[in-house]
Amino acid sequence: MYVEALVKILYLVGALGIVWGLKYLSSPDTARKGNIVASIGMGLAIITSIFDPIENSYPNYLWIFVGIILGGIIGWYMAKKVQMTEMPQLVSLFNGFGGASAMILAIIELYGIKDAVMELGSGLILISTLIIGAVSFTGSVLAYLKLDGKVEDKNVTFRGHNTFNNIFFIVIMAFSGYCLIAGEGNYEWLGWVIMILSMIYGFSFVAPIGGADMPVVISLLNSLTGVSAATAGILFGSQIMLIGGILVGAAGIILTVMMCNAMNRSLWNVLLGNFGGTAASNASGVAGVYKEISANELAIQLYYAQRVMIVPGYGLAVSQAQKTCQELDAMLSKNNVEVFYAIHPVAGRMPGHMNVLLAEANVSYDKLLDLDDSNDKLKGTNVAIVVGANDVVNPSAKTDPGSPIYGMPILDVLDADTVIVLKRSMKPGYAGIENPLFFESKTKMLFGDAKDSLNKLVQEIKALG
Ligand code: NDP
Repeated sequence: MYVEALVKILYLVGALGIVWGLKYLSSPDTARKGNIVASIGMGLAIITSIFDPIENSYPNYLWIFVGIILGGIIGWYMAKKVQMTEMPQLVSLFNGFGGASAMILAIIELYGIKDAVMELGSGLILISTLIIGAVSFTGSVLAYLKLDGKVEDKNVTFRGHNTFNNIFFIVIMAFSGYCLIAGEGNYEWLGWVIMILSMIYGFSFVAPIGGADMPVVISLLNSLTGVSAATAGILFGSQIMLIGGILVGAAGIILTVMMCNAMNRSLWNVLLGNFGGTAASNASGVAGVYKEISANELAIQLYYAQRVMIVPGYGLAVSQAQKTCQELDAMLSKNNVEVFYAIHPVAGRMPGHMNVLLAEANVSYDKLLDLDDSNDKLKGTNVAIVVGANDVVNPSAKTDPGSPIYGMPILDVLDADTVIVLKRSMKPGYAGIENPLFFESKTKMLFGDAKDSLNKLVQEIKALG
């Protein structure tokens, strides 16, 4: 009696920790603390479920602790070793493991039914857990392979792929319906068939989706893993699993919708694979003459500017230029130049990528402006410095209805008096399309690695002071 109450209280405290941690994650100021609080909540939930004498009446502690220790060491090592630029891949892979766990729980449960008759309600939940877990597992693994450059979009997709996927999905639904209604005595082999088909479907579902849409897909898969954990929670009567699953599912779908909004595209459009990857490479090229600027000339412009807007992108992460950026910011600010950072919601390779990098370099949060505030402030900015960003400042999103990124909100850097682009070459960005910004009369290019260029700038400004 008392033990039962204690177990419930511990689960509740664990769940509160997870919710509280999520709340903290909503601001960069408290995000680190949020991670710790949520981890403690999750840890408490895991420990309680291991020692829960009611639910876990015949625990095999050897298997449990060997699994925890092995998983813990591997997870710790991978998270420690990963570069900031590889973070989306890691998130995707870890997400896949979550899906795989739900899938395994469901297939084991299906085996347990054997010759008994499956009830419609619990059967529906069981098969949903199996399908969603399997789709999330293989989909996430393919997303990881694509983002890591181990698999190219064009090698895993074919003409009519979306139609094939739709038919495949109907086949899975047909097997599931049969299993539910008339599967008595055949649950084991039907379970295997549904699981294998769902795993193939997960792979095939992600295959045609273009490179630049991968973050949306990862977020969607993340949500699916949450849903599969929630349905597994219903299956096992575990409230904590249900709460955790619902939180992940809801957070994932909200993020998915926010990212689609940031690109001004519907989720359907993203899933049909119309942007990025292979489709984008067919975009019409832009030809023109571009102008270059030296670090010395730029340093003089910055020294006498009143407002400077730094526009970070993926290249900033690649060259790890965040600290040098902050150094430049500090020098200019000391010289009474107003410095802001224009943060596009999909700049970089994952949501919040730029915020995390700049926070790591101790850039003050009130200098980080979102898309709307940045566009307001760009009017009246003397110099906009684009540091390794490309797609998020591409004006064809506004001017060229034929462009694959047409309709995506962008940072209007052309509203500034001068635009300086720091990149290594004239190569396109992730969406694979040319950027007419580089050929505008007010744009000048400073070629080189972003960190090297910023370092040169810092030295030149020092020399001026
Ligand atoms: P882009 O990928 O469009 O452009 C990055 C630019 O950085 C390139 O043009 C590259 O040019 C330059 N670059 C690369 N390395 C360096 C370096 N060492 N020094 C200087 N420049 C460098 O990045 P954006 O941030 O503008 O846009 C993000 C894109 O990624 C969007 O298409 C978005 O949809 C997509 N995406 C976003 C995700 C998210 O959630 N944020 C996740 C996945 C994709 P060069 O090679 O010439 O140097």
